[in-house]
Amino acid sequence: MIEVSKKCIGCNKCVPVCPFAAINMIDKKAVMNEACTLCGACVQVCPVQAITITREEGASRDLSGYKGVWVYVELSETGDNACASAASKASGHQAANHPKKIKQVTFELLSAGRRLADELGEELCAVLMTEKDHGYEKELGAYGADKVYMVEHDELFEYNTDIFSTVMVSLVTRHKPSVILYGATIQGRDLAPRVASTLYVGLTADCTALAIKDGLLLQSRPAFGGNIMADILAPNSRPQMATVRPNVMKLGEPVHGRSALVVRESAKLDKSLRRVKVLERKIDHGSATVRIENANIIVSGGRGMKTKEKFKQLEELSKLLGGVVGASRAAVDLGFKEKTHQVGQSGTTVSPKLYLSFGISGAVQHIVGMKASDVIVAVNKDPNAPIFNVAKYGIVGDINEIVPKLIEALKKRK
Ligand code: FAD
Ligand code: SF4
Ligand code: SF4
Repeated sequence: MIEVSKKCIGCNKCVPVCPFAAINMIDKKAVMNEACTLCGACVQVCPVQAITITREEGASRDLSGYKGVWVYVELSETGDNACASAASKASGHQAANHPKKIKQVTFELLSAGRRLADELGEELCAVLMTEKDHGYEKELGAYGADKVYMVEHDELFEYNTDIFSTVMVSLVTRHKPSVILYGATIQGRDLAPRVASTLYVGLTADCTALAIKDGLLLQSRPAFGGNIMADILAPNSRPQMATVRPNVMKLGEPVHGRSALVVRESAKLDKSLRRVKVLERKIDHGSATVRIENANIIVSGGRGMKTKEKFKQLEELSKLLGGVVGASRAAVDLGFKEKTHQVGQSGTTVSPKLYLSFGISGAVQHIVGMKASDVIVAVNKDPNAPIFNVAKYGIVGDINEIVPKLIEALKKRK
C-alpha cells in the first residue's frame, strides 16, 4: 500500500520519476493511481518524506503467482580482462562506439539457472538493461536463456544504483519471478541489496551452491568464518534472491544457434532519479596483469614461502608458465603479495586450468576459493596438509628445493 501524508507540499518532484505514470497532482497534492507497482522511485525523491509504502508480511502474501528463474545480465565496458586506457571523462554515452560485453559471470549464472529452471519446470529468463541492444540475446540464448527481458533506454548508458534498481523492481513487480540470481560483483553487490530492500525480501550473498528443495531455492554459503556451510531457504518471500561470485558456478557449453525470445520492456526513466553522477572514470591499464579471476594458470604461494624475496621466485615461475601469481591470506598479511592476488573466501574465487600451490596448508577459507580449478598441484613438506585433499597431484617436499628446480627445468625447455 502507498500513502501520501499531509506533509506533501505539492512540489511535483515525484511525478516525472514514476516509471508507470501512476501519480497525478490533485489540489496540489500527489495522488497515486492503480498503475502504481510500489517500485519506490517516488519515495527516493520526495524532499519531505511524504510518501510511505507498506508491504505485506511474507507469510500473508500469495506467492503462487511467482514463476521462473531470472539472471541479471551484467555488462562491462571493458570486458572481463581488458582495461581501458588511463582516464576518460565520463561524459555520458560512452558505449556508443564500443559495444559492452556480457561478463562471464552472467553465463555462469545462466548455466546454473538452467539447471534450476529445468528442475522447477519453469522458464529461465535473462534481464538486460542497456542503452543499446547489440544482439546480446544470441549469446544469452546460447547459454540457456529461454527469454530475455530487454530494457533499452538512454539513461541505462552506465550502471547507476537508482536507475537500475528502479527498472529491476518494476520488472519484478510486473512479471513476478520466483528466483533471481546476480553476480557477486561490485555491480551485483550494489544492485541486489537495493532491490531486496525495496521489495522487502531476503538476499543470500556469496552462495557457493544452489539447488532446488521442495520447490524452493536452497542457497548454500559458508558461515562462521567458513567453518560451516549454511543452507538457507526463503519459504515466505518472493523472489528468492542470491548473489554468486564469479568462477563459482561451472560454465556450461554454449549451444550456438539456440535462440531466446526477446521481450522488450518499456521504461520511463527520469534523470532526476540519478542521485550519483560519474564525473571522471579512471581505469588502470596495469591492473590487467593483476586480475587472477580469469587466469588459466595460477602459481600460488603461502606462508611456507617464508620471505618476500623467496616469494619472488613464484613470479619467475609463473612468467615461465604464462600464468599469474596468487597468494594465501597469510602470504598477503605478511606483505609477500598485494591483496588483489589473494585467493579464497575473503579474496578472489578462481577456477584456472592449472593451480600450483607452494607452502599453502589448505585452510577451508583458501580451498573455497580455488577448489573449482581443473588441475591442482600442491607442494608442502607436511604430508598431512589439507591441501592434498583437493590436489590432483601432491608433492611432499621442501619448496626451497622444488621451486628452483622447476624454474631451471622450464628454462631449459624454452
Ligand atoms: P599456513 O596455514 O601457516 O600454512 C603454511 C604451510 O606451508 C604449512 O602447511 C607448512 O607445512 C608449509 N610449509 C612451510 N615451510 C615449507 C617448506 N619449506 N616447504 C614446503 N612446505 C612448507 N585464507 C586464504 O588463503 N584466503 C582467504 O580468502 C581467507 N579468508 C579468510 C576469511 C576468514 C573469515 C578467516 C577467519 C580466515 C581466512 N583465511 C583466508 C585464513 C585461513 O584460515 C588461513 O589462515 C590461511 O589460508 C593460511 O595461509 P597459509 O596456508 O599460507 O599458511
Ligand atoms: Fe510510481 Fe513507483 Fe511511486 Fe508507485 S511507487 S507511484 S509506481 S514511482
Ligand atoms: Fe508531494 Fe513529495 Fe510528491 Fe513533492 S515529491 S508532490 S512533496 S509527495
